[in-house]
Amino acid sequence: MNEQKNDQGAEHVQRLTEYIKPYIEKKKQWQPDLSHLDLKATLLKNLGGTEKDWTSWQWQMAHRLTTIDLIADLFNLTEVEKQEIESVTLHHRMALSPFLAAHLASMESPLAKQFLPSVLELKHFCDGEPDPMNEGHMSPVPHITRRYPDRVILKVTNVCGSYCRFCQRRRDHGSTDHHIPKKELEPAFEYIAQHEEIRDVLITGGDPLTLTNEHLEFIFEKLRQISHVELIRIGTRMPVVIPQRVDSGLTELIKKYAPIYINLHVNHYMEISPEMKSACHELLMSGAVLGSQSVLLRGINDSDDVLRYLFQSLLAIGIRPYYLFHAKDISGTAHFRTSVAKGVQHIKSLRGFTSGLAIPSYVVNMPGGLGKVPLLPQTYLSSLEDDPILFQTWENKTVSYPNKTLSSEVITDD
Ligand SMILES: *Cc1c(COP(=O)(O)O)cnc(C)c1O
Ligand code: SF4
Repeated sequence: MNEQKNDQGAEHVQRLTEYIKPYIEKKKQWQPDLSHLDLKATLLKNLGGTEKDWTSWQWQMAHRLTTIDLIADLFNLTEVEKQEIESVTLHHRMALSPFLAAHLASMESPLAKQFLPSVLELKHFCDGEPDPMNEGHMSPVPHITRRYPDRVILKVTNVCGSYCRFCQRRRDHGSTDHHIPKKELEPAFEYIAQHEEIRDVLITGGDPLTLTNEHLEFIFEKLRQISHVELIRIGTRMPVVIPQRVDSGLTELIKKYAPIYINLHVNHYMEISPEMKSACHELLMSGAVLGSQSVLLRGINDSDDVLRYLFQSLLAIGIRPYYLFHAKDISGTAHFRTSVAKGVQHIKSLRGFTSGLAIPSYVVNMPGGLGKVPLLPQTYLSSLEDDPILFQTWENKTVSYPNKTLSSEVITDD
């Protein structure tokens, strides 16, 4: 009897090991690519910078590549390829930090696909909408978007360290960089102060960490003066595209105005460079609470294993995956979108197969600004009123679950 039990146990463990084997094998091939070290030297030479310049986030911002010329040289693009990209940048500008350019690895890499202009953007120019979330109409005062009862978005800049081609706020990128001056933010602070129900302010942009520490402190100070604001959140991609941004001035601010919740936008494990890791370590040590959001992107991270490795890698450096967004219907970005069914399938591939902490909520944003709808794989096959309820487990086993509660239980004498 006992022997039989042991056999079953061994079989069970064997099955669990088999589940994970192919992934373990695949993961071994995903070792970091260090070829960017050569590119860094070439970029510094071309941009006339020093090793010290490289470590300055202001230098990185000021030397963002806004034309394809240098990249065309680095990756030996043909004249036709170069001209194609140039024609796209006429419609939608490009900007790529030297740090990111050094990490591109190839023209087909997940990073290149996210940040380099593609002719597909022109092909899909007429699909989708410039502002499907209707942010323009959900703004009670300039720079605030209010879609929910107790929280708002505060947009403080249109500037990013590098521009993602699929950005939901592409319409804001325009042709010039513009931080919202302090004075122009006053009505937003007044609005928040006058609405005691607003307890959560999400500072976004653009990328708020492109502001100077002094400008950021002004915003933190204003918000901390409002007693009903409990939560200050920041959405940023700077630790990925210009990790140098996490300087001692910033970590001091995070300590001073704690707790600051920082949500990092990360879509692929290739974005987790040693520099990004150490920036996140600094943020953690300063007491920031770190989460992540990712966008599900066709040909970039729409793979069970790539997503699993991304979320596990984030968790391993203290970042809790928060949202996986379904890509929105933005003009010029149709080539990035997958189906919703595929998104749900990816989430299903994670549940049970890895730490629950590594699984974000998969969220579809409703058009017209009607909010986020989370989607879960189907976990019950009958009505929840049924007795028993039929549940489906992570291994697709159907389980009959007695659905008895005290109120409906018939209590008999014997
Ligand atoms: C996403 C979003 C928020 C924050 O939503 P959470 O689910 O609380 O993270 C707040 N306001 C707007 C307008 C949003 O789009
Ligand atoms: S960092 Fe964020 S706001 Fe900036 S381009 Fe990328 S997705 Fe858009």
